[in-house]
Amino acid sequence: MRLILLGPPGAGKGTQAVSVAKEFSIPHISTGDIFRLNIKQGTQLGLKAKSILDSGLLVPDDLVVEIVEDRLKQEDCKNGFLLDGFPRTIVQAKSLDTILNNSNISLNFAINIQVDKSILVERAVGRRICKECGATYHVLFKPSKNPDSCELCGGELYQRPDDNEKTVSKRIEVYLRETAPLIEYYKSSGVLATIDGQKPIDMVLEEIFKLLRKDKV
Ligand code: ADP
Ligand code: ADP
Ligand code: ZN
Repeated sequence: MRLILLGPPGAGKGTQAVSVAKEFSIPHISTGDIFRLNIKQGTQLGLKAKSILDSGLLVPDDLVVEIVEDRLKQEDCKNGFLLDGFPRTIVQAKSLDTILNNSNISLNFAINIQVDKSILVERAVGRRICKECGATYHVLFKPSKNPDSCELCGGELYQRPDDNEKTVSKRIEVYLRETAPLIEYYKSSGVLATIDGQKPIDMVLEEIFKLLRKDKV
């Protein structure tokens, strides 16, 4: 199964990606996670990416494409993959098409998780992430059973520096300008599937499973 997840910041891509990747035994490739890991480790890439992520703008296309191209060459992508947060521009989408064409493969679905702009800020600002295992929580919609620590591993929960109201608004603006045109792009290539992302987390997942495997409900 070769999938991409489209949707504005806070739509629920990462949350759904974890469950979908597990169910279909495919790697979950989040470009945002790759940048955050590099920032944490202080690599050259991390040093370049930090101020861009903090500002809510996009990392340059050539840099992101190179990272994804390398990642897709790895052995664990042989049976498929789930791209979360890539592509984010038409240039990136075209590059991905070229990469896949060169290997004679294509996408099964581009899943567009649709959420009204009005609730995105609340979703992103309330997001909390485990420092140790990366699990995602929400202060209201998916609170950890332990106060202030991860219910899975006990790790400390933190808020992404770009999950403040001002930067989230900027990211939504960037999404509308740069990424939303991909919806038409994938509609034209016949792989677009739209999912209502405003329902509770379990119901959104059920809809995605219904799409990917009819007997999975
Ligand atoms: P994205 O990867 O698209 O930015 P996330 O999956 O990290 O989004 O979700 C953003 C925040 O919203 C997280 O705190 C998550 O727990 C919460 N969330 C995700 N899906 C839902 C949903 N269907 N209903 C309510 N809250 C959700
Ligand atoms: P979101 O919750 O907004 O979907 P991500 O974790 O996917 O957040 O991305 C966080 C940031 O990482 C983006 O605001 C952007 O700066 C950078 N980034 C992630 N993926 C890409 C990409 N495909 N192209 C350019 N920048 C990216
Ligand atoms: Zn954890």
